[in-house]
Amino acid sequence: MSRPLIRLAGTALLIATLLPSQAQPVFPPPQAGLGQALSDVSEGWRARGEDDPQAVLAELAQSAMPVGGVAAPAWQRMRARTRGLVAARSGLPDDVRRALAALTALETDVPDDPRWRAGLQGDRALIQAQLHDLQGDSVAAVRFGREADQAYEQACGSRQPAADCDYRAWWEALHLLAQRADVRGDLVAALSLAERAHSVAGRAADLGLEAWSLAMQAVFQQALSHDTQARTLMAQADRLAHRQNDDRAELWVRFAEARMALVDGDPAAALRLMQQARRLAVATGSARLEAQILPSLSDLLRRTGHPQEALQVVERAYPVLQRHHELRGQPTLLHNGGLAKLQLGQVAQGRADLERALQLWQTAGARGAMAVALQEGSDALAALGDVRGALDLLHRSQGLRALVNADNQTAILSQMRATYRTESERRELDLLERENALRSSHLQTQVLIERVWIAAIILLGLAGAVVGLLALRARDATRRLRHSEALLRVQSERDPLTGLANRRHFREVLATQGACFQGALMLVDIDHFKRINDEFGHPAGDAVLVEVARRLGSSVRAGDLVCRWGGEEFLIYAPDLQGEALDALALRVLRALGDEAVPLGEKRVLPISASLGYAAFPLPAHAVALGWERAVNLVDMALYTAKSMGRDRAVGLQSVRAADSAALETVEADFEAARLAGDVSLSVTLRWGA
Ligand code: GH3
Ligand code: MG
Ligand code: MG
Repeated sequence: MSRPLIRLAGTALLIATLLPSQAQPVFPPPQAGLGQALSDVSEGWRARGEDDPQAVLAELAQSAMPVGGVAAPAWQRMRARTRGLVAARSGLPDDVRRALAALTALETDVPDDPRWRAGLQGDRALIQAQLHDLQGDSVAAVRFGREADQAYEQACGSRQPAADCDYRAWWEALHLLAQRADVRGDLVAALSLAERAHSVAGRAADLGLEAWSLAMQAVFQQALSHDTQARTLMAQADRLAHRQNDDRAELWVRFAEARMALVDGDPAAALRLMQQARRLAVATGSARLEAQILPSLSDLLRRTGHPQEALQVVERAYPVLQRHHELRGQPTLLHNGGLAKLQLGQVAQGRADLERALQLWQTAGARGAMAVALQEGSDALAALGDVRGALDLLHRSQGLRALVNADNQTAILSQMRATYRTESERRELDLLERENALRSSHLQTQVLIERVWIAAIILLGLAGAVVGLLALRARDATRRLRHSEALLRVQSERDPLTGLANRRHFREVLATQGACFQGALMLVDIDHFKRINDEFGHPAGDAVLVEVARRLGSSVRAGDLVCRWGGEEFLIYAPDLQGEALDALALRVLRALGDEAVPLGEKRVLPISASLGYAAFPLPAHAVALGWERAVNLVDMALYTAKSMGRDRAVGLQSVRAADSAALETVEADFEAARLAGDVSLSVTLRWGA
């Protein structure tokens, strides 16, 4: 079954008469829903074209224009665009070329209408973006995707809604760009693209697409550590998809939920959700749709200890991708299959698959994916006891990471250079460059450690052979393996922008604490940071983050840990700080950030401030032990209180009255009510004293 064509009861009839059939269809009188109706017809063809492009292309070539109502150029344009997109999604370049030519030929059909021409340009760019995306050429895909976005913006404009506009096409361009930004790791861009996609889906009156974009936003918000927003968005997406009874929308919502569960560290839940997504895909009868779920499913199966099933999934999806010349998902599948084979002891084949996947990624220039893949391959080999193989892959991975980091850094720097050219602004650049140098020397040290280690392995191996103490060698191997595991764990513990520990590292440190968390936590969130980005640009925002990180670092003591908790939030963990000393730290941090404006360049300074929430655990007058996650959550609520009291202040959670876990949950559920009821006592520190 294809995607339900008839979503809106009001347009059902309209669409039914538009559907290609033997009898000459009669087009209803022109009205505001015309663009919508054409879009729905196109969508029906597109959905079927996913699995059966040839049949749909043939149908499209023959389809006659409906009688009455619809303007010939609008119909021709819809048909050419649909042909192009169906062909692009199955890698049929000849058909793509023909469709592009047909769209160009239509330019003169409506003379002197820049919006008409912009629409055609958008269609052509979208088709090419799709083709490049399928072939794994992300750079070209993004270039054309942006062109399509701009052209549609011009064609569809801000008129609400433009009758001749296919908002689904525009949505598709934005969706593609959001996905590519996500893969690049540019979450801020991904989020704002998903937000725009959501609003365009609203103008298309397509609730399924709205749900999908909301789910994507949730994923990005979670990755930016905005957990509350993420949850709210996901609940919204879920409701929408459900209300719509749209299997496809629901499937992508499940898919997004699975991804969030994995980030939350619950692969079992992620697997369950992904299997639900697969069932929904199977229910639509589209093997192509199912194949889009399978790479992620294979990954989860492998992670949760089902290598055999993972392999089956890979083998099911691979031919589908090949049939449609879809290169993009292939390396992921090969890689997951390779890892599954390693787990099953098929070492030679597994390694060959991994290498083949790496080659495909290399061709596509996907260095980020390669770095992760190398790391995973390295872990898998280490688990098999192949220490040298593991180190080899680790080494390659770190080399790549260094390149990727350097590239990111260069991109930020060159952006900054373009924005702020004057001399005194060099100071900011110098700061960034120093950070950069620090990081690369850190990497070099790691590489050096590895070299020494490899040499040690070889030497040990030789000595073992000479002395012939096999038993000793066996013991060494275990020790080496353990050491190499530790080595393998030294991975992306730092946030590339600020050089601080990242959230993952922090989690690992805190997780060692067990069920009863002890120590002080302080969450720092820059005030109105969005304005900084909006008014001075993203690179300036980044420079502020680097400076804030530096100031935080010099406000704490040696044994304390500062981490970039997410976007513009920082978390400080001070293992043995409490009472007045902790309040003093809060004041120190407020002043370090707020007293002196951040220099942004020639005579330009940017005053900033931050709000803080903090507490020392275990909390006084509170009988229940609580884990670090709940501790962070409570501190987050204190931070929220600081924001709501007017920002630029620190709110300390001094004590909580809660006899048991349930009572604490009540406090967590409505912190504000608990505060007013006197169940929590807070202290407020202002930067300038009370
Ligand atoms: P509030 O005072 O309520 O905290 O307001 P705010 O504007 O700081 O609000 P919020 O915390 O929601 O905004 C965080 C913004 O930080 C959103 C996002 O665009 C931006 N951001 C997140 N990560 C980065 C980054 O790495 N670089 C830059 N430049 N901006 C980022
Ligand atoms: Mg924030
Ligand atoms: Mg903020």
